[in-house]
Amino acid sequence: MAGPGPGPLELGFAELAPGPGRRSGPSFRSKVGGRPWWLGAVGLPGPGGLACPACRRPLAFLLQLYAPRPAPAHAFHRALFLFACRHPDCCNAFRVFRNQLPRKNDFYPYDPPPEEPPPPPPGAAAGVCLQLGSGVWLCRVCGCPGPKACARCHRAHYCSKDHQVLDWKLGHKQACPQPEGPDGAIPDHQFLFPEYEIVIEAEEPDSEGEEDGDVDGVEDCADPELPGSLGEAPEAVLDALAKHESREDRIFQQFKAKTAREPEQIIRYGRGVDPLWISGEGIPQEKDIPPCPCGARREFEFQVMPQLLNYLKADRLGTSLDWGVLAVYTCARSCSLAAAHYTEEFIWKQDVGSA
Ligand SMILES: [Zn+2]
Ligand SMILES: [Zn+2]
Ligand SMILES: [Zn+2]
Ligand SMILES: [Zn+2]
Repeated sequence: MAGPGPGPLELGFAELAPGPGRRSGPSFRSKVGGRPWWLGAVGLPGPGGLACPACRRPLAFLLQLYAPRPAPAHAFHRALFLFACRHPDCCNAFRVFRNQLPRKNDFYPYDPPPEEPPPPPPGAAAGVCLQLGSGVWLCRVCGCPGPKACARCHRAHYCSKDHQVLDWKLGHKQACPQPEGPDGAIPDHQFLFPEYEIVIEAEEPDSEGEEDGDVDGVEDCADPELPGSLGEAPEAVLDALAKHESREDRIFQQFKAKTAREPEQIIRYGRGVDPLWISGEGIPQEKDIPPCPCGARREFEFQVMPQLLNYLKADRLGTSLDWGVLAVYTCARSCSLAAAHYTEEFIWKQDVGSA
């Protein structure tokens, strides 16, 4: 993926079957849904880090991007993991984590692995990895760290009471007493999102000389202040409204024009570029993006497009999982905080807006 500095924009597409020659080992790929392919096997976010900040239920893995950096050396391998609350009563929170490894590390060979996927790690059953090489157990339902074990068989691991109860109802009740243990088949808990490989391609440059920069005036009036209606001359109010509406319209038209060229795009990746907003409402200002705990500022890295919702089988999503743009901001220095463990980065959700 992109090198240092604002680079060419790359687009991500969802593909059901992994394309030939694209795979370089499960952890060095990008994907949507299913269980996470954890990069580093230590310092994973625990159940607290992966709980919904709004309703405290476990978040569901939404997607991961393998986005290595040529420098610094500790970011030779680098991946971002995005989680969403999908509980029908909430559906209102997202969290993103960054993890990095130097080229020489405890988990992967120094030289790039061969094209064919490596054999499944120990603990993998039916293609599902339930224990990482480091010994960390993963929840049978969501694939996130599962520090709790079933009190009866001690073989089934869970991130939370929620997921233990779900698994119990969907078959662990029967499997628990069996001597061969619970690992044989994992039922469909209707919790994971459908799984796709993310294929990355460079965005074709503008052919029609269509303007590519900011929408005129967006920078200047990122937070337009409409005059209050009381005591104002009606013409002034109407003028301001018209201006506001035409700016809204320009932003939305630009969003439509850019996505129409590749209507299936689910990811726009471009370190340090301007995000493609869907609406004039809910655009963050610089002060809205908190710096990394290392002190460096966070810069825009990629955005998730609303097109992804079409792939997530909306009928299984409950009522309200929705977004216009999910913009992910990460430490501009790719600091080493995430070399020892997974560190949380910042995600901004822009709604489709009322326009
Ligand atoms: Zn929630
Ligand atoms: Zn779980
Ligand atoms: Zn059990
Ligand atoms: Zn940092």
